[in-house]
Amino acid sequence: MLILLFSLSFFILYSDDRQECLSYRNFPRTVERHCPEWTTSYQCVSTLVNTIFVVYTLKFLMNKKHIHNFIEKAYREEKFTNKEIINLLKLDNEESQELFKVADFIRKKYVGDDVHLRGLIEFSNICERNCRYCGLRRDNKRLSRYRLMPEEIVNYAEKCQKLGYRTVVLQSGEDSFYTARIISDIVREIKQRTNLASALCIGERKREEYEQIFDAGPDRYLLKFETSDPELYYKLHPDLKYENRRKKVIELKEIGYQIGSGIIVGFPGQTTESIANDIKWFDELELDMIAIDPYIHHPDTPLEKIKLNDLSLVLKIVAITRIITKDTLIPATTAISTIDIHNGRQRILEVGGNVIMPNVTPVHLRKKYEIYPKNKKLYKEPEKLKEEIENMVVSMGRKVAKDRGDSYKRFPLHKKLVLQE
Ligand code: SF4
Repeated sequence: MLILLFSLSFFILYSDDRQECLSYRNFPRTVERHCPEWTTSYQCVSTLVNTIFVVYTLKFLMNKKHIHNFIEKAYREEKFTNKEIINLLKLDNEESQELFKVADFIRKKYVGDDVHLRGLIEFSNICERNCRYCGLRRDNKRLSRYRLMPEEIVNYAEKCQKLGYRTVVLQSGEDSFYTARIISDIVREIKQRTNLASALCIGERKREEYEQIFDAGPDRYLLKFETSDPELYYKLHPDLKYENRRKKVIELKEIGYQIGSGIIVGFPGQTTESIANDIKWFDELELDMIAIDPYIHHPDTPLEKIKLNDLSLVLKIVAITRIITKDTLIPATTAISTIDIHNGRQRILEVGGNVIMPNVTPVHLRKKYEIYPKNKKLYKEPEKLKEEIENMVVSMGRKVAKDRGDSYKRFPLHKKLVLQE
């Protein structure tokens, strides 16, 4: 269209006989044959169109060159500046395809085709915090609460083992009923009765508690920092301290846990600049696993409703994270499947993902673990869910991992390959 306009206006502008020009002849009869004012104004319009055309063409070409440079840089595995990350986050859908290809290339190079499945047990939906976006927040009186006893948790871990998982993830709200001693006992019992790796996702605790629990032998700890933007963090977490969050992640690493962290994308007020900074944090903290969740509004929370209709920004963040951090574990989370029920997980695996955490909690309890409202189609029995996910992984030409899925940073792929040979 722009080219057509340009050609037409170019023709008018440089026509030798302006009174005889084609456009004039097609003009309504009311226009006089010799009409210099009309011709002049028409010339102005055509000049304007030409200028717009030239500006847009130059911008388009420069943009293409920029993308090309970014992609080349990604293949060369050079570091990106914050500004470059921001530009990558702004790529449109068509431009992003190149980015996704690089991310998939880097994923294959550093962590291979394996997809690690971890059985997830949500053992308590009681939370003493009041995060403004979360359905488990203590002020949500409409949620029916539950708490599993230690023996039940260990039984579900055994079920994970029977289903063929190599890792169990124990997740809850911040529920002080489970003291460090109780959590330690649960972890010890799981270690004795199964050969599963264990990961904990139970929120902020004192350093001494993290240390006490670590002595019982858990392998990993998941603590999202949610956002690196202090203002946004305080807006979302009225009773948590921004300064503490990053410190806690570092503490856990120092103690010896393999550490998972991450962010939520799409909060009201979140900026591209702050997301670029989040990605920088991923790299600086040298995380073993990084989870990137879309924000899904819960009607029983005070945070404004922003509906994230498509996953394009999440996909770009996953891809950039893979390109920058290279050998991390990146899950395709349940929240992603809530937005795209049919292909959400697959799309994340295509742009750098390599972990899925299917839920092993009984369906009637899972419905109450409502951090955000989930799609009802996600409530499948653990056996069926695992089978479907495995089929999806294989249909993509990927493999369901046979090992425990420990950190690639601590156990690099080339060392794993040597061990298997
Ligand atoms: S985000 Fe975590 S800490 Fe905050 S209310 Fe929800 S479960 Fe509790």
